[in-house]
Amino acid sequence: MIDLKDKVAMVTGGSRGIGAAASIALARAGASVVVNYAHREEAAAEVISQARAHGAKAIAVRADVARVDDVQRLFDIALAQFGRIDVLVANAGIWKRAEIERLDEKEWQETIDINLKGVYTCCRLAAIEMKKQGSGRIITVSSTAGQRGEAFYSHYAASKGGVISFTKALASELGPSGITVNSVAAGWVFTDLSAEALQDKQELEKIVAAIPLRRVATPEDIAGPILFLASDLARHITGEILNVNGGSVLCG
Ligand code: NAP
Repeated sequence: MIDLKDKVAMVTGGSRGIGAAASIALARAGASVVVNYAHREEAAAEVISQARAHGAKAIAVRADVARVDDVQRLFDIALAQFGRIDVLVANAGIWKRAEIERLDEKEWQETIDINLKGVYTCCRLAAIEMKKQGSGRIITVSSTAGQRGEAFYSHYAASKGGVISFTKALASELGPSGITVNSVAAGWVFTDLSAEALQDKQELEKIVAAIPLRRVATPEDIAGPILFLASDLARHITGEILNVNGGSVLCG
């Protein structure tokens, strides 16, 4: 039902976790994919080979989304290769625990630079191309932490709250240009990012007990809604912050 043939999708942080699942889902739907990563070349290569196994064109591009010059190079390579950007999934992010007394400027800035500035830079360059095209889909990946806050992760919560407000602002700004801008606000997901927190059996039981659907999501549980927002099925949806959290946070 979802056909993204002839579409080009860029996924930041596409080498692992949610971004990897989104890259593969977009490729399965027929899109050509640009898989961005920061360090793990072999993980990105694995995603590329899975995307190609679905018959999709796929390239991996190393770029640190916190660096404006890196993101510019990422877009230059993607445009040289495919000529357009139809879908941007602004997903790359980090999550590092730091109680407020210990949260120094360097750590605060690292999280803000990757999680929030990185989204701004990618969305800005995508918007420039999508405006020329007269169409486009931007999907940011936010978090329940940006909706209700998260103790010991105030910098992370601030970055994701910023992503949510930024998404809404861009939705109203870019709507008249035929571009939709939505966010998937994920709850707990089994990925490398959350692995340490979820490996403790007792902690996991507590987390699961607070989720009405009584399960932690897989990356594919988040990739499906991303694919939906990238598709024509969602053509009249913009500015939406889609709760994909098993019911743990119910923001209307
Ligand atoms: P993950 O498994 O740790 O994967 C992170 C991805 O981001 C990797 O592909 C990594 O690339 C990339 N990345 C990290 N820093 C980067 C940078 N500076 N520039 C470019 N790419 C960078 O994380 P995940 O759980 O899939 O998280 C993806 C998004 O979902 C994040 O924004 C996160 O905040 C959000 N989220 C996750 C959860 C959860 O429970 N997992 C919950 C809510 C929201 P390399 O492979 O090269 O390192």
